[in-house]
Amino acid sequence: YKILRLILGDQLNIQHSWFKKPSPDTLHVLMEVKTETDYVWHHIQKACAFFAAMENFAELLNSKKIETIYLRLDDPKNKQNFSDNLNDLIEKFDVKEFHYQLPDEYRLDQELNNFCKSLSINHCAFDTEHFYTSRTELADFFSGKKELLMESFYRAMRTKHHILLDDDHDPVGGKWNFDEENRKKLPKNHKPNPPLLFDNDVRQQYNRISATKIKTIGNINPKHLLWPVNRDQSLKLLHYFCENCLPLFGTFQDAMQTNEWSLYHSRLSFSMNTKLISPVEVVSSAIKYWKENKKSTTMNQIEGFIRQILGWREYMRGIYWMKMPEFEKMNFFDHKRKLPEWYWTGKTEMNCLKHSINQSLEYAYAHHIQRLMITGNFALLAGIDPDEVDFWYLGIYIDAIQWVEITNTRGMSQYADGGIIGSKPYTATANYIHKMSNYCDNCKYDRNEKTGENSCPFNSLYWDFHDRNRAKLGKNHRLSMVYRIWDKMNPDLRSEVLTRADFVLKNLNNL
Ligand code: FAD
Ligand code: SF4
Repeated sequence: YKILRLILGDQLNIQHSWFKKPSPDTLHVLMEVKTETDYVWHHIQKACAFFAAMENFAELLNSKKIETIYLRLDDPKNKQNFSDNLNDLIEKFDVKEFHYQLPDEYRLDQELNNFCKSLSINHCAFDTEHFYTSRTELADFFSGKKELLMESFYRAMRTKHHILLDDDHDPVGGKWNFDEENRKKLPKNHKPNPPLLFDNDVRQQYNRISATKIKTIGNINPKHLLWPVNRDQSLKLLHYFCENCLPLFGTFQDAMQTNEWSLYHSRLSFSMNTKLISPVEVVSSAIKYWKENKKSTTMNQIEGFIRQILGWREYMRGIYWMKMPEFEKMNFFDHKRKLPEWYWTGKTEMNCLKHSINQSLEYAYAHHIQRLMITGNFALLAGIDPDEVDFWYLGIYIDAIQWVEITNTRGMSQYADGGIIGSKPYTATANYIHKMSNYCDNCKYDRNEKTGENSCPFNSLYWDFHDRNRAKLGKNHRLSMVYRIWDKMNPDLRSEVLTRADFVLKNLNNL
């Protein structure tokens, strides 16, 4: 072969220009390697879904006469890292040129850069042709500006790509943001449509992972993996979402419920992050559906959904490339505590955390508000080391890839970036959790109390967090109300709250 092309596990984009026609002098390779399975404890469903999707992709390419080899984890020839395996292939097939698509992760970008420097043959990197924006578009957009506001970036993206616009410049519906309408709790007896689940047999992948003793977390029934593992299933999920979930997506996007795990969410993040489908396809399908069903799908539903993909997803990608590698070391509050053991087992009496964590172990999925306002909120208030928090988030979710995990976790949820992404930390007491969920109804702890042994730990930790970080947060005008309430609180009560918080922090593993 003249050319060898590497396809990474999150580059399963059949619409890429590489694959427009067969090229007999080119060999493609996908590989399962331990450097990818071992950098974190992945959820077993995530590991199986990735491998199954990669194998399906290799098969698809071969069926189109695009020659592709697939190196399995347990293949004796597998050297378990990209560089060594690539060197072997270059030598074996006497390859003259090496091609790859730009990785979305900094770690792999460095590795492939270094690999190319070591090569004596030609090499070339290609765009993945997946995102709306290039790696540097956000940095260019904000160049010279002090604040990196998602809202202004999102509006610029809407304008640039002519999405939900009247007359090419005004937002459809008269405003850019309908978030105020999107904070409803699920009414009692409201039953969301059931999620569309697939039935993929991943026993081969599962056996391979077990046989090679890869450390994983979470539960699986390998005969029936529910996640999409090819393009066809991803498109089915997209269409199911538009017809069944989009009409109430915005309204209930922040709601949480003990017996519902996906509500009106799309669960398209795995398909998009592996590039089985593109954000452009997702956005245009949703808009097409909305245009045909404007009566049932109001403006807040479609705008809320487009904001997540064209706004947040592209914004996080841009921040990542603007701020790495410094970003992965940031620890604004100098948090040092270890993650409580029960993050790995779900064994806690705090009902909101028990549900969110058990659901994550069961499905490799939690929706945004569970990640942000339950598990993330607790870790922040408890002062957990952001390295520990990242390690957990980067493994447990089906969609966890560093570019979108770390910006959301370290940035948005832990404020370890000191306010690059959020203008204030996302913190809340039981008040918010009760407002958005039914978790507090059956909890050992009392959501109305902030002191005493039955009081909800969030309530004392919330005040303790703001009190102990006053030097860093006291001047933030968005928090002036919080500090005013704290200062007005009876001094005896304040001291009891801090005593309770101290007890909670000393007994994190036993809550
Ligand atoms: P939906 O609610 O249906 O939203 C539609 C799509 O919008 C998602 O599929 C996703 O592609 C995009 N989206 C929504 N919110 C965000 C966001 N904040 N950032 C980027 N894209 C967004 N998302 C990941 O893809 N991988 C991660 O590892 C990840 N880690 C997170 C960690 C924390 C602490 C938090 C708070 C959020 C994280 N997110 C992550 C963002 C978001 O929670 C998930 O994208 C979403 O829950 C995926 O489920 P869904 O496909 O049903 O999303
Ligand atoms: Fe969570 Fe507190 Fe509500 Fe219990 S009372 S579910 S710990 S917020």
